[in-house]
Amino acid sequence: MKDQTIGIYIHIPFCVKKCPYCSFNSIENSDVPEDSYIDALLKELAYYMHKTPDLSEKSLETVYIGGGTPSLISPGGIERLLRGINSVFSYTRQPEVTLEVNPGTVTFEKLLQFKEAGVNRLSLGIQSFSDKDLKSLGRIHTKRDALNCFEYARTAGFNNIGIDLISCIPGQILTEWSSELDAAISLRPEHISAYTLTIEKDTPFFRLDKEGRLLLPSEEEQLEMFELTINRLTSAGYNHYEVSNYSLQGLESRHNSRYWDSGDYIGLGAGAHSYRSSPDWGVRWWNISLPDDYIKSINNSGQAIAGLERLTEEEAITEGIFLGLRKSNGISYDWFSERFNFSLKESRSQRIAILIEDGLISERENTLRLTSKGLIIADTVITSLI
Ligand code: SF4
Repeated sequence: MKDQTIGIYIHIPFCVKKCPYCSFNSIENSDVPEDSYIDALLKELAYYMHKTPDLSEKSLETVYIGGGTPSLISPGGIERLLRGINSVFSYTRQPEVTLEVNPGTVTFEKLLQFKEAGVNRLSLGIQSFSDKDLKSLGRIHTKRDALNCFEYARTAGFNNIGIDLISCIPGQILTEWSSELDAAISLRPEHISAYTLTIEKDTPFFRLDKEGRLLLPSEEEQLEMFELTINRLTSAGYNHYEVSNYSLQGLESRHNSRYWDSGDYIGLGAGAHSYRSSPDWGVRWWNISLPDDYIKSINNSGQAIAGLERLTEEEAITEGIFLGLRKSNGISYDWFSERFNFSLKESRSQRIAILIEDGLISERENTLRLTSKGLIIADTVITSLI
């Protein structure tokens, strides 16, 4: 099945200050080399258009500008970038153009100009409405900044706003998480991503945790917070469409859905990843991480690829099951048979029967889905099917 559409991911690897839990490819940089970085992004796009002519026949479906902190880039820079992308692609449906925004980096005027530049969706990295928790996460913004940012975004005319929240912050208790959810719901954003804090290797939080100095909620408390999130957000009318993602009807993130549906995307920028579902079982590649090295490589050869892997059939199957079951839409048996030439239902009949009996998955309309009980321990259930 050849994907006729394409998503573009752009990575902006600069932040005002590195958060102690963050393992994303980003560096602290008070002096962002905006012009040379955007020049490099556009050169990299030109390289792909030249090397893979079939790209220009694809319909542009999404552009996602993530980071790092993309809202550090000026609206003029974002406009130049979007103009470059629009000049090489056409589309059949208005593309979703998302910009990640750190509430500590924008004013009303800046958001308005982002909108005029062509951004039609914002993803606000609010993370928490509690000044205490924002401080322990090392964020540069306050609760007031977060609320102002949301209000500015609405006033600027954005009618598709997502907010990110983090649960299981050190010292956080269930009632505090409950207040976070209340605060989020009261703003009525179109999309809410509610992630559990994960302790990533090589971060200050990892070291603190090893030394026993990070007071993380127990596993039981984490599960309670996860369950509360599902109950509270779905009762408020949000559709729980992926393990950590909720949206008002029809306002799922089109870009992230591409990842979960194994759709094609090209990543531009330092450390950006790309994926194409063909030839064979798919291929993914990734760029050099350091911004200076990325810019040099693009200026020398037009590309900055650091590594590439061709998926084996087994890897593609594992990925198809893993990503498919994380979505509330689940995996259609027909889609699976068409992609892999064998039946998921028949090849795993015994395991599926046990999981159904345990109330962890369900089979409806020829589709396999996690139940709400299964969602709570999604990774364990999915792994048992791989
Ligand atoms: S702002 Fe985001 S990308 Fe930057 S350091 Fe913090 S978590 Fe990482």
